Amino acid sequence: MSDFDFDLFVIGGGSGGVRAARVAAEAGAKVAIAEEYRYGGTCVIRGCVPKKLMVYASKFSEEFHDAEGYGWEVAEPPRFDWLKLQKGIHKELDRLEQIYRRNLANAGARTFDARATVTGPNEVTIDGQSVTAERILVATGARPFIPDIPGKEHALTSNDMFLIEHQPERLAIVGGGYIACEFAGIMNGLGTKVDLFYRSEQILRGFDREVRDHVAHEMEKKGITIHTNCDVEEVERTNEGVKLHLEGDMTMEFDEVLYATGRDPNSYGLGLEALDIELSHNGAIAVNEFSQTSVPSIYAVGDVTDRLALTPVAIREGQAFARTVYHDNPTQPDYDLVPTAVFTQPEIGQVGMTEDQARNTGPIDVYCTTFRSMAHVIAGREERMLMKLIVSRDTDKVLGCHIVGEAAGEMIQMAGVAIKMGATKADFDRTVAVHPTAAEELVTLK
Ligand code: FAD
Ligand code: NDP
Repeated sequence: MSDFDFDLFVIGGGSGGVRAARVAAEAGAKVAIAEEYRYGGTCVIRGCVPKKLMVYASKFSEEFHDAEGYGWEVAEPPRFDWLKLQKGIHKELDRLEQIYRRNLANAGARTFDARATVTGPNEVTIDGQSVTAERILVATGARPFIPDIPGKEHALTSNDMFLIEHQPERLAIVGGGYIACEFAGIMNGLGTKVDLFYRSEQILRGFDREVRDHVAHEMEKKGITIHTNCDVEEVERTNEGVKLHLEGDMTMEFDEVLYATGRDPNSYGLGLEALDIELSHNGAIAVNEFSQTSVPSIYAVGDVTDRLALTPVAIREGQAFARTVYHDNPTQPDYDLVPTAVFTQPEIGQVGMTEDQARNTGPIDVYCTTFRSMAHVIAGREERMLMKLIVSRDTDKVLGCHIVGEAAGEMIQMAGVAIKMGATKADFDRTVAVHPTAAEELVTLK
């Protein structure tokens, strides 16, 4: 019999924590998990899921227009009901949260609905009570970061976008990363006038240069105004909404401003300082390749470690931890060639290196095409897709694949399998095209 109340205490009921708790409990470990807000965490409650539902909702405005090109008569101008959408989304989130709770219960994990703190290498305090555990897993995620400017309290964050009761008519978005660009597309599609303010020369830093230019251009064609090299110095609340004070004494007025300027790991106030747990950049918890911290009984996975802030990665990290410790199967998360999608409009799918990264590794060939999707021609939509393969000249291996356009996220998942297996350009070329699709361009690139 163990001397501890639990074999494992997990703090945080999001993607990484829930997976770890379930896999450990399924191996027979006595597991407890604490969640201070709602089970499912960022992804389910205030991230991927509600965001993607809003993306679906926002696409209808263009689709109603497309339908007319295909002979449909849209008799009355379509109207959009913000509250009805919010209600539908929250009903779905409630359903998903229950599934998370049920899965934990079925696996035999004990759930706590409260904030937990670490009060010793083998001790967690919850609701004023201390419990002991042989191991503690910190999976507390991250929270929105807003730079320290006057009036920052007037800004919305992505968390608020799923809760506000009125759709702003004019929205300013600050930031040029995943969240800023995704919400720009969503709100523009739903009929809000969107201005995006980015401090540097081009949005979506870290993505392929050609992809960034292409997406920015298409976003502007859809009506989003992108202000690059433009930082906000102050947010002022007015009777009508908010006034942004920009560099060079300029001001602009909006109903609301959304700050999407990155996320900070939730490592503070957890009691980690007292235990001298090593933190890395940005307050992220430093861990080794098995997600173990500098205190051997304490582990950490997911966004709180800021390795790659994506849901499937947090899940893999949680799973690898539980396999290593409770299934006697040492497993390291694999960060090589992780495919990713940005649900901008148009959507981005990418796996592997950008052109600039690949050029630093040796000689390369670049195959790139842009074209109008068949679906858009009759509809009269001017949007163009982009497909790009970056290939090593020495080995013919595909080093990077970049897709912009409808269903890019779906396509990149499959391209990711091929590239992970080491596919060459010749492998792509000898694969027969699926016709008529947009994806066939990937196997006919010259
Ligand atoms: P989380 O899911 O954040 O879970 C941590 C949990 O811990 C939270 O529920 C929190 O309430 C709880 N908690 C914190 N402190 C305590 C405490 N002391 N006691 C008890 N509980 C505590 N990723 C993708 O792959 N695809 C996407 O499309 C995507 N879209 C996103 C959209 C948005 C708007 C955002 C914000 C993120 C998005 N992400 C997306 C990223 C993804 O949501 C995260 O990478 C993922 O949720 C990280 O999982 P996690 O388990 O590390 O943390
Ligand atoms: P990102 O890191 O993607 O983007 C942050 C943006 O804010 C960048 O454009 C950055 O500029 C800018 N910024 C940072 N600090 C400041 C500042 N002080 N003043 C002005 N601008 C600033 O973060 P997000 O919050 O958009 O998303 C967080 C993470 O969540 C993502 O990195 C991603 O891992 C994950 N996510 C994944 C999604 C998906 O898979 N589809 C969707 C949403 C989130 P600069 O480029 O100059 O640094």
